Amino acid sequence: MFVLLFGPPGSGKGTQASALAERLAIPHVATGDIFRKHLREGTALGKLARSYMDRGQLVPDLVTCDLVASRLGEADAAGGVLFDGFPRSVPQLYWLLGHLGATGRGLAHVVNLQVNEELILARITGRRTCTNCGATFHVDSAPPDSSGNCRRCGSPVVQRKDDTEAVVQDRLVAYAAQTFPCLEQLTERVPVHNVDGVGSIDSVRERIFAALAL
Ligand code: ADP
Ligand code: ZN
Repeated sequence: MFVLLFGPPGSGKGTQASALAERLAIPHVATGDIFRKHLREGTALGKLARSYMDRGQLVPDLVTCDLVASRLGEADAAGGVLFDGFPRSVPQLYWLLGHLGATGRGLAHVVNLQVNEELILARITGRRTCTNCGATFHVDSAPPDSSGNCRRCGSPVVQRKDDTEAVVQDRLVAYAAQTFPCLEQLTERVPVHNVDGVGSIDSVRERIFAALAL
C-alpha cells in the first residue's frame, strides 16, 4: 500500500509518519531525511541538496525523483511505502503517479495534515535535531535530555539551518507556490483525508488512525 502524508513544513509529518508507517507495516520514506543523511555523510548529492535546503528552496525535481526511484527499487519497498515530504511539486507528483502506474500500482490514501501558520512557526523555530540519528525535539514541548543531548542516542542536538525564522518564511513560500497545488491534483485521483494537526502528538495520531480506519 502506497500512502502519502501531506502538509506544510512543521505540520508534524515526520513525527506522525513513524507511528503510521509502523502501524501499516510499510517503510517510511522521507526525502528530507534522505537528503540530510547524504549531507552528514558529505556525498556529492548531499552537497548539491544543501545549497537548496539552506535557502528553503526545493531540491530540483530530477534529482529528487531519481533518489525516490532508487529507494523504491529496494526490496522492502515492494509492498508499499509511506511518503513523507514527497511529492513536493506537481512535476514530482506526475512522475510518481507514472512510476507507480507503470507497474499497475497507485496511491491508496493521502493524509493531509492541517495546521495554522502561527503554530508552524512556533514548531519549526523551536525544533532541535540530533546531529547523529536525526531524531527531533522541541525546546518547549519535547525537550532534549537534561544535558541538551538526544534522548535516543545521546549525541548533540542542533537547530537545522533551515529551521531559522528567515528560512522558514522561504520554505512557506515554496510550499504555497510549488507544493500546495499538488493537493488539487491529488483530490481528483486519490481519497484525501483532511486531519486537524493541532493538538498533542497522541491525539493527532489517533485522528490519523481513525481517518484511515486503523
Ligand atoms: P519539512 O517537512 O519540515 O519542511 P523536510 O525535512 O521534509 O522538512 O525538508 C527539508 C528540505 O529538504 C526542504 O526544504 C527541501 O529543500 C528539501 N526537500 C525535501 N523533500 C524534497 C522534495 N520532495 N523535493 C525537493 N526538495 C525536497
Ligand atoms: Zn540521536
